[in-house]
Amino acid sequence: MHKVLIANRGEIAVRIARACNDAGLKSVAVYADVDIDALHVRTADKAFGLNGNTPADTYLNIDKLLDAADRSGADAVHPGYGFLSENSDFAQAVLDAGLTWIGPLPETIRELGNKVTARELAVRAGVPLVAGSDGPVRSAAEAKVFAEEHGLPIAIKAAFGGGGRGLKVVRDIETVEESFDSAVREAEAAFGRGECFVEKYLDRPRHVEAQILADNFGRVVVIGTRDCTLQRRNQKLVEEAPAPFLTPAQEETIHDAARAICREAGYRGAGTVEFLVSEAGDIAFLEVNTRLQVEHPVTEETYGVDLVLQQFRIAEGQPLVVEDGLRPLKHSLEFRINAEDVGRGFLPTPGTLATLQAPTGPGVRFDSGVSNNSEVPPQFDSLIAKLIVTGSDRQQALRRARRALDELVIEGIPTVLPFHRAVVRAQQFCDSSSFQVHTRWIETEFQAEIQPDPTYAPRSGANQSLRQLPLEIDGRRHTVGVPEHLFALLGSGTGAHPDAGSESTSSCRTDGTVQSPMFGKVVKWLVEEGEEVTEGQPLLVLESMKMESQVSAPCSGKVEELAVAPGDDVKAGMQLTTLV
Ligand code: ADP
Ligand code: ADP
Ligand code: MG
Repeated sequence: MHKVLIANRGEIAVRIARACNDAGLKSVAVYADVDIDALHVRTADKAFGLNGNTPADTYLNIDKLLDAADRSGADAVHPGYGFLSENSDFAQAVLDAGLTWIGPLPETIRELGNKVTARELAVRAGVPLVAGSDGPVRSAAEAKVFAEEHGLPIAIKAAFGGGGRGLKVVRDIETVEESFDSAVREAEAAFGRGECFVEKYLDRPRHVEAQILADNFGRVVVIGTRDCTLQRRNQKLVEEAPAPFLTPAQEETIHDAARAICREAGYRGAGTVEFLVSEAGDIAFLEVNTRLQVEHPVTEETYGVDLVLQQFRIAEGQPLVVEDGLRPLKHSLEFRINAEDVGRGFLPTPGTLATLQAPTGPGVRFDSGVSNNSEVPPQFDSLIAKLIVTGSDRQQALRRARRALDELVIEGIPTVLPFHRAVVRAQQFCDSSSFQVHTRWIETEFQAEIQPDPTYAPRSGANQSLRQLPLEIDGRRHTVGVPEHLFALLGSGTGAHPDAGSESTSSCRTDGTVQSPMFGKVVKWLVEEGEEVTEGQPLLVLESMKMESQVSAPCSGKVEELAVAPGDDVKAGMQLTTLV
């Protein structure tokens, strides 16, 4: 392996480019048009354009990625997390192109990526798991039978779900049918496959996972545990290592189960085996993620292992030299810095990040995909950076975290920083004698008055595409990509930005017009034309940065014409309807 193509963007692409540097490997970045000047592009040794601006046209496009690998002379591919990292067809295509795939074998990804076959494997490995249906459920009636047999609540889960999406909780037997139908519909739309299965839904569990590394010689080692209980909408927000307050018996069960599953799967590479710990303390297998995890740095900081370097070694066919059963030397916390406005229900907030001042000092690591003046585009994930804080024990890590979070300055767009500052001061999370939070704690118990960010005005968004122009240099044809908004200026001869003056402000107009608060896609209307609504009533669902949010009525009134339909793209400031 000499040159690694990084098939990703953002902080994880930066992280991998740095690891390449540390390992003496060359790195190649790829970019969507909007990312032409992104930090990951500047960090890698070389960068190749993917010529497009949607995920499907860029970081999810296997042909374009392989073409970039070919043009750049890369001999290996690292997929990062998200995008194609758990796509067995991509892994196979990389191998078929004669390149090294930095990840598990395609057949392992296929087996474990399907939550139904992963559960079957866990059963073969003798691992404890939550009561669930044997295989996919084919109808709402089957789901109902399961609920009658095992009791409520149940979770209807998409076999190919991920990123906290594709899970429906049913607490009332009357709603099984409706939930099942919508789960299948949503899974088809989001993951292209509608298969769902049913699991007993645990109330107030913790999420604990084990980091594993496995080489090509049958060696599987567990590098400790992580707790990822602090979630909103089943998505992790704060993680830590080692998972605190586990009994030695629980820890042993988790380590043994993770090892057994990876042995049964013939696993190779870095991976994570996820578990739930019930209120009663029982361990239940959840799923395996066949890739590097977002929260991998907390393991690196506490166990002194560079997981990306280990991935390189394994991909090159070298035997693992990391010991099994390492003891943690420290305690580490990770805070995901998402571009979301907590005061507006974690609404995504794409835009231009004006200032970024990262904290420094003992125990502080800041893994960022952005810097001063970075664009945070609306079409990709809202995770822009991660703050990782390490101390000699959990209490010291928490004290350092309070300090580091206070030092961190981000201006230009709202982020979840105010949430993190409140959470590290919440008694239940910081308690020194027992673990008092659960996976729905943020949504049901956490009390913090976080106001909407008054300074954020979603923009209508400049056109971020590149126009490809042919150009001749010394008799040779080259292509230059010119940002569309610059191209527009060339034609107009004015110095005015094409978007100047069209900045939108907010969805709350008093004249009854309801405007989109952000760039996104219409998912569905929750009201009909002619319906009387009251102020604050949810009107429609929009999706942006892979998250759904609701637009509420700015005042009471009757809904006039619905100006947009499901599937339509909307910009910030665009009129959605009028209330009269
Ligand atoms: P982890 O277990 O590492 O926290 P997540 O499940 O939160 O992983 O997902 C990691 C990343 O993968 C997310 O930040 C997101 O970018 C991406 N991701 C996960 N699921 C999807 C999906 N269904 N579609 C697109 N991206 C996804
Ligand atoms: P994903 O692929 O989206 O990460 P997971 O199966 O790992 O899906 O579940 C994500 C989160 O959803 C878990 O961390 C947990 O908070 C919640 N969850 C999933 N299954 C259950 C369950 N059976 N009972 C309670 N919570 C669950
Ligand atoms: Mg998961």
